[in-house]
Amino acid sequence: MTTNKTFTMLKPDSVEKGNIGGILEKITASGFRIVAMKLTQLTKSDAEAFYAVHSERPFFGELVTYMTRGPIVAAILEKDNAVEDFRTLIGATNPAEAAEGTIRNMFADSISENAVHGSDSDENAAIEGAFHFSGREMF
Ligand code: UDP
Ligand code: MG
Repeated sequence: MTTNKTFTMLKPDSVEKGNIGGILEKITASGFRIVAMKLTQLTKSDAEAFYAVHSERPFFGELVTYMTRGPIVAAILEKDNAVEDFRTLIGATNPAEAAEGTIRNMFADSISENAVHGSDSDENAAIEGAFHFSGREMF
């Protein structure tokens, strides 16, 4: 069963480059409703837990440093088929391979600094959203 919700982060590079507005415009113009949103910053332990599945990968240390170096925008988004449609909207992990018009194609610099996160399953969307937002912050 799909929950029709996904979780996203506009990563530190997006905030640093002044791309919050441009990315949110793409997201809302693509039919996603913002259900919850905040500017926040991951701690080292937050980032290590969030990306625990990648802990043995060579890029893990660099990924944690990147994701903790400044504020992010965390948000929960709602749309039919949200998880899959949002992964399509953001494009491939490597912006060099991301389709024309996708968020990573437009706003990302590299495979490591790739502008946005999108949940990869309904289960992870629920876990990731609940990590950042209480029930009274979800609309
Ligand atoms: N990443 C990286 N180098 C790589 C692959 C991934 O630095 O070779 C980073 C990148 O920021 C990516 C994150 O690790 O978004 C999580 O990787 P994943 O394969 O889950 O990609 P995503 O689901 O974000 O497309
Ligand atoms: Mg992933």
